[in-house]
Amino acid sequence: MPALSYLHQLFNIEHCQAYIHTLRWKERPLQCPRCQSQAIDPWGTYHYRPDCKRYWCNGCKRTFNDLTNTMLHHSKRSLPHWILATFLLCLACSSRRIAREIGVHIRTSYRWCWWLRNAALSYEMERQVEGTVEADDLYHTAGQKGQAHQGGKKALGRRARGRRKKREPGRGHYDKDRPAIIAWVSRQGAVVIHATRDFTVKTVQKAAHLAVQAGSRLYTDSASSYRAVKGYIHEYVNHTQKEYARGDVHENRAECLFSLLKPYLRVFRGIGKLNLPGYVGFFQFLRNFRQLNAFEQAEPILQAALDPTLASRVKKGEFVKCFDHFDLLQTAIN
Ligand SMILES: [Zn+2]
Repeated sequence: MPALSYLHQLFNIEHCQAYIHTLRWKERPLQCPRCQSQAIDPWGTYHYRPDCKRYWCNGCKRTFNDLTNTMLHHSKRSLPHWILATFLLCLACSSRRIAREIGVHIRTSYRWCWWLRNAALSYEMERQVEGTVEADDLYHTAGQKGQAHQGGKKALGRRARGRRKKREPGRGHYDKDRPAIIAWVSRQGAVVIHATRDFTVKTVQKAAHLAVQAGSRLYTDSASSYRAVKGYIHEYVNHTQKEYARGDVHENRAECLFSLLKPYLRVFRGIGKLNLPGYVGFFQFLRNFRQLNAFEQAEPILQAALDPTLASRVKKGEFVKCFDHFDLLQTAIN
């Protein structure tokens, strides 16, 4: 048996407290998270957590600390657990892997991953690409995983999918457990990825409207749904005639993005279609912050997790809901 089973045991708890303290108050004045009063006095520390500074609010006559009212408030696990879990999440580990590496229950790590992913999505809400934009589409098998009412296995109500067999021809559709994923990749760097119900003209037009700034240059393949899109300077290459690039016109960046997305999604061994937008959105976050290493990527996520104004929205999954483009045609977009 190794002397230490988990990496977080090597963490220095004082460093973690100081790091979290810095992140918590980085862009905000030191103020009470309950009444926003800035009349604050130091109030010692906790005897069981000697490095966690406590403050007294003269406004509401209560004490608070760095974690009060944030996503990490009331967590029974230590800060090294959280920091390490966020780091592993940015390294594209599954929640089961994270549970094993940091020694928490699978349900705990699943909940943490869900919250942290939500926190990351708060950076991607207003993302739009511009300039020269390439678009491509992909169909990803996503069923009802994790949707059994009381947990455990549920009767499928159909034949097993038979992963080895050749899949049925034609485009995928949400109702056939094969929703479409559309990637909008700007040559200036940013990406937007949408998981949509289908790949009809209407859906693609609305998705383009959301993702791409009007008047941008749009390069795609010859699919008829792209050809009908209005509001952009559009050119396409014809893959059926073996044309993959015509001078500047190609969509190789978009195809490259899918070659990264596919192995990323494979790690999770099947994603339910309800959860697909969250995973795809988190991949979008990772791509848009790709100049950073995994720990640097974890920092903005932790910073969002330490924001009391985001905490309840993150736990309710509000940000993923905004990422859910399966009901694109129902939502009114002006
Ligand atoms: Zn107060």
